Amino acid sequence: MLVVMKFGGTSVGSPAALQQVVNIVSKAKHVGQQVVVVVSAMSGVTNLLLDAAHQAEAGSEAAAHQARSVIEQKHAEATLHFLGDTPTRQQVMAQIDALLNEFESLCHGIHVLGELTPRALDVIGGLGERMSAPQVAAILNQAGLAAQPVESTELIVTDDRYGSAVPLIEATARKTEAGLRPLLNQGLVPVVTGFIGATETGITTTLGRGGSDYSATILGRALKADEVWIWTDVNGVMTTDPRVVPEAHPISRLSYAEISELSYFGAKVLHSQAIRPARRVGMPVRILNTFEPDHPGTLITAEESDNGKSVKAVAAIKNMSLITVAGPGMIGIPGVAGRTFSAVARTETNVLMISQASSEQSICFVVPTPDVPRVIKSLEQEMIREIERRDLDPIQSENNVVVLAVVGSGMKGTPGVSARLFGALGGEKINVIAIAQGSSEFNISVVIAQGDADNAMRAIHREFELEKP
Ligand code: ADP
Ligand code: ASP
Ligand code: MG
Repeated sequence: MLVVMKFGGTSVGSPAALQQVVNIVSKAKHVGQQVVVVVSAMSGVTNLLLDAAHQAEAGSEAAAHQARSVIEQKHAEATLHFLGDTPTRQQVMAQIDALLNEFESLCHGIHVLGELTPRALDVIGGLGERMSAPQVAAILNQAGLAAQPVESTELIVTDDRYGSAVPLIEATARKTEAGLRPLLNQGLVPVVTGFIGATETGITTTLGRGGSDYSATILGRALKADEVWIWTDVNGVMTTDPRVVPEAHPISRLSYAEISELSYFGAKVLHSQAIRPARRVGMPVRILNTFEPDHPGTLITAEESDNGKSVKAVAAIKNMSLITVAGPGMIGIPGVAGRTFSAVARTETNVLMISQASSEQSICFVVPTPDVPRVIKSLEQEMIREIERRDLDPIQSENNVVVLAVVGSGMKGTPGVSARLFGALGGEKINVIAIAQGSSEFNISVVIAQGDADNAMRAIHREFELEKP
């Protein structure tokens, strides 16, 4: 059995966590599994790197110097714990120092130029994983588990959408097979950098924040792995964000369709695109707790399991804006919906939700707040004549909204779910700004004010008795 195991930031973020990683990989090897390990940066490192890059652009290199020393300290501590003061440790620390030198000189360049490109940001953002992989490989080797660090720029081929690159499946399959299979055949554990890919011409890209999950399923698909195990710091996918609702608890089974709705609408436990490669080939994915490895966690497959609940989970995606196209002459404008979304598409903005009243007097849709100025500009260009003629009102946006998604395959054909949902929100005096339901009937999404989000999550959790196992 071949398993791709991804360890997230907290799971490689301290000596105690790294000891768990050793135990988990060791157990798998002892029962004869072939293992590919995918690692994140140590917790907090990616944020430090990206913040420093932004500060350098804004005119200060101080954050870069400070980040360097914090990151170096983290790695120094972890390597000392496992490797002692040995030549092996010196070798690993030398690699890490070389990457930190690269980081500081990149920040210096950004500071001098006063410009930070998305391409440079990806090189900097990916440095944390490149420090983590050799460290984890050395720790596994020290524990008698023969391991080898591998840079995913040699495996995962992507397009050049820096910051959220999309993998090219065939090229990735070829390179991954050539890069990893020989190591697996020798009984080695490849320890691959998560988060990072490279374009066909070899330029570093990243798969978006939280992208190591995606790396794991991309590699799993490429290697035709039996399963992908995402090791994190909670007991699986939970009924909602446990930081908001302490009563949240893990869900033992989810379908690909359910997790894709949840991760798309903000459940941070899995990257929004990560399930796609697995779903494509029917590869099971497990979400497991590094700190409680015997807990069964969540198993995700194609099967729609019924846990007796219409609603299984609720997620929220924050920092969104609702844009409305409306006006007295709206009904008379031919192709207005098509033109609206073509104009949005030209800005390459991701539209999360669309809602149109049946009277056809308005169309509204949700986009990430940072994209609003571009979207409005493009819409105003497209509709300039209609706006001048006052057939359309000036394009409006409402900021500081969230999309709440209520998800569960049991909602299909169960009457009264939306009545209970809106009853629960009404009971908390929460105003619903817009509503959409997917035709899959797996998901009802509502737009509400950001300030109401946490209250709404708690009210929905209570209404559907999600705290009960
Ligand atoms: P990792 O570094 O392992 O990738 P993340 O921090 O990216 O971990 O994701 C795990 C965290 O996601 C959890 O600690 C939890 O706080 C948060 N989270 C939000 N929503 C959910 C949910 N529905 N189920 C589980 N965890 C969630
Ligand atoms: N280290 C990256 C991030 O913080 C990728 C990941 O952890 O999955 O976004
Ligand atoms: Mg994550």
